[in-house]
Amino acid sequence: TVGAVAVDREGNTACATSTGGMLNKMEGRVGDTPMIGSGSYADNKVGAVSITGHGEAIMKVALARLIMFHMEQGQSVEAASDLGLAYMKSRVDGLGGVVTVDPQGHWAARFSSLQMAWAAAQKDTLHHGLYCGEHFTQSI
Ligand code: ASP
Repeated sequence: TVGAVAVDREGNTACATSTGGMLNKMEGRVGDTPMIGSGSYADNKVGAVSITGHGEAIMKVALARLIMFHMEQGQSVEAASDLGLAYMKSRVDGLGGVVTVDPQGHWAARFSSLQMAWAAAQKDTLHHGLYCGEHFTQSI
């Protein structure tokens, strides 16, 4: 899965998520990725999120919308992402990773999976890495 979130200088947010799906998936399976509110969500008033991980678990908790809900309640991008991932683990035993941004440009790459590769760019700068058991949060 490859996901992206973006915010422009006016605070417009966007998300995009693309996937080949889970290994050995059932023929005809529709996963979380094309389901707005599960694998992706964007709202200029709140922020944007793109998600990878166990699609069936992500769909059961509508993880993208859940993270946006926590942000609406005043949580930061990292806290909202962690709360959503922790709920998915405790409720349906699912693991995943998320990239999240708010309209002010605060962003986070958080995951409960073993690792998640990420990259972040602002104008001319590029940060990237493959993080194992660590999270990354920054403002742009
Ligand atoms: N979430 C995707 C799916 O279940 C898989 C992935 O993120 O790698 O289809």
